[in-house]
Amino acid sequence: MIDELALKVRNGGRLERAEALELYLHAPTPLLGCLADEVRARKHPEGIVTYIIDRNVNYTNICVARCNFCAFYRPVGSTEGYVLGFEEIFRKIDETIALGGGQLLLQGGHNPDLPIEWYEDLFKAVKERYPAFRLHALSPPEVVHLSRMSRLPVPQVIERLIGAGLDSIPGGGAEILVDRVRKLLNCYGKATADEWLGVMRHAHQMGLRTTATMMYGTVETVEERLEHLFRLREVQDETGGFTAFITWSFQPDHTELGGVEATGVEYLRTLAIARLVLDNFDNLQASWVTQGG
Ligand code: SF4
Repeated sequence: MIDELALKVRNGGRLERAEALELYLHAPTPLLGCLADEVRARKHPEGIVTYIIDRNVNYTNICVARCNFCAFYRPVGSTEGYVLGFEEIFRKIDETIALGGGQLLLQGGHNPDLPIEWYEDLFKAVKERYPAFRLHALSPPEVVHLSRMSRLPVPQVIERLIGAGLDSIPGGGAEILVDRVRKLLNCYGKATADEWLGVMRHAHQMGLRTTATMMYGTVETVEERLEHLFRLREVQDETGGFTAFITWSFQPDHTELGGVEATGVEYLRTLAIARLVLDNFDNLQASWVTQGG
């Protein structure tokens, strides 16, 4: 069975759910890695690895969502809560440009004190000062949060953010795109799987490119990890708007959920199966921050 599936991948065939499960559970890690590498070489025969220099800035840590896997947020009223001022964000952009960077990955908590106008003012101010600098900003749950706070439909929120200077949307907040898992992680309220995918669909239809992510290693089953990948593949079939997929393992330290981090081997296997299932994604990104050098 594994040999047949390996042959199917080598012939450019598309994996079905049961086939992906078989490979993920039973293929030897070196074989899985070789297959993924062959797919990579087919997609990028020139053998060039690309990257961008950007800076990850979290504009606020105040959040009403309270996901139980998150060690970053502080509740409203906490003495450890912060919101970055525009001047501080400009200083971070200056430092980024000085190091050859050209983009901010700008994400933050769901802060009820920041209306959509705050984001519009920030984006406009950034674009005025740094016209060529790119804003890769606000993951789908943040867009959903703004939609609820401003009582505007998601497409209208995206339209306003684009009007203010948004260039692309990062794929954060996806965790696992299966609602059973999202309820257990207390992140169903911030965005259901359909809401997350819906923001991306709208963004793609409006001409934005986005990334997609997966955080694995909490309470999900292996089948649910794969379901996540298949749901992304379906949207990519429809829109073609995802530029890259990034996966990382849950980091349990200082979280309410706790537990043990997945192994490096599991990371490699997950990355490899993602490469095989996501046959319509051009790029995979490695998460240095979580997995280490
Ligand atoms: S929405 Fe983001 S910042 Fe807020 S608790 Fe969840 S992961 Fe943390």
